[in-house]
Amino acid sequence: MTEADTKFDPKKKYKYLKKVKNLILQCISCGDCREATDYTSVPKKWGVCVAREHSTGFEPFFGRGKMQIARSIWQGKLELSKDLAEVLYQCPTCNACSTTCYYDMDNAAVYEALRAELVDRELGLEDHLIMNRAMVEKLNPYQRDNKEKGEWLKQLDFKVKDASKEKAEVLYFVGCTAGLTPEIKNVAINTAKVLNKLGVDFAVFGENEVCCGSVAMRTGDRKAYDSVVEKNIELFQNSGLKTIVTSCAGCYKTLKKDYRKKMKKLGIEVLHTIEFIDKKNPKLKNLGITATYHDPCHTGRGVDEPLYELPRKLLAQMAEIKEMQTIKENAKCCGAGGGVKKAFPDFSLEIAKSRIEEAEETGAEYLVSICPFCYRNLSDAIKAKGSKLKMVDLLELIIQAL
Ligand code: SF4
Ligand code: SF4
Repeated sequence: MTEADTKFDPKKKYKYLKKVKNLILQCISCGDCREATDYTSVPKKWGVCVAREHSTGFEPFFGRGKMQIARSIWQGKLELSKDLAEVLYQCPTCNACSTTCYYDMDNAAVYEALRAELVDRELGLEDHLIMNRAMVEKLNPYQRDNKEKGEWLKQLDFKVKDASKEKAEVLYFVGCTAGLTPEIKNVAINTAKVLNKLGVDFAVFGENEVCCGSVAMRTGDRKAYDSVVEKNIELFQNSGLKTIVTSCAGCYKTLKKDYRKKMKKLGIEVLHTIEFIDKKNPKLKNLGITATYHDPCHTGRGVDEPLYELPRKLLAQMAEIKEMQTIKENAKCCGAGGGVKKAFPDFSLEIAKSRIEEAEETGAEYLVSICPFCYRNLSDAIKAKGSKLKMVDLLELIIQAL
């Protein structure tokens, strides 16, 4: 052992891995996360790990490999590098591996810590660097003028309060994807329409809305993440709001889980819009359609109390549900998250295409979800495959059924 070896102290060298070291050391390398253990609901040979299924399938593409990499780095046997980054970022951090793990491991927390160590050493991916820089400078990761975040409001025939100037009971946190993507702004429009129809006193920040920071957290840019968190907390504090609703799964997980301590301090409750709506007992008419439901990872495996039954309860009132082969905790990811769509768009699209095949097998007319980011990737895959499936957000059905 050299003198350098004896001085190696991972706690000093890796501040992000230090926070998840118990998880890293708990992994026994059993490999259960290679494929799903529940063969009754997940009979396909690749299991639920979409990274393994759509890559070479080698060890580092599924859970055990990444956990071994984390352990080797923690023990000083492996160094972080650009090559390692290429592999570690080809994973949408869907956390399906944690579902199969006997220890109920939060694998995604380890992968995010590995990415944070990479970014800290300027070993992250260029695409993510540009995206996260835009998020800090322009307040959205799409490199757009944030003023455009208020554009969708012009399509409403009622006025929505401006949370920067007017007090309201509820803040609707729109998110950058629904706020800035023309094909997906319907999610924002329909959410506002539903809240208005239910007589909710709500406001939005519009052009002043700051990205929640989800993309930075998932891709490991903690400095960029901290910068937007600080801005958001100041906005929330000044507006005096008590409840935040969001129709985006990514914003939901970030505001609910990653902001948890801060929100608790401010006394703010975070709900997905469908949770908020359900509390109002809406009467929804049957639309006479068939639909299958895609569980977003961030409203499922990503949070402590997954939203599996609630969207199905609402959907069942409006449509005949035809379930896919992998659902709820075993649901296959759409492939968009974790910075994968940004850095590896083809890989991301292949994952979405296989989810579309699963949805097509049900014979349903509609594919329904509660996340603009899943909506975007699954719509891209529907287009790429020339599928007859119609992608729709649950809120879009709710406004028709109210
Ligand atoms: S993460 Fe869990 S399932 Fe995967 S190898 Fe480690 S202990 Fe086994
Ligand atoms: S997070 Fe998802 S894609 Fe990544 S290794 Fe785990 S199961 Fe595979």
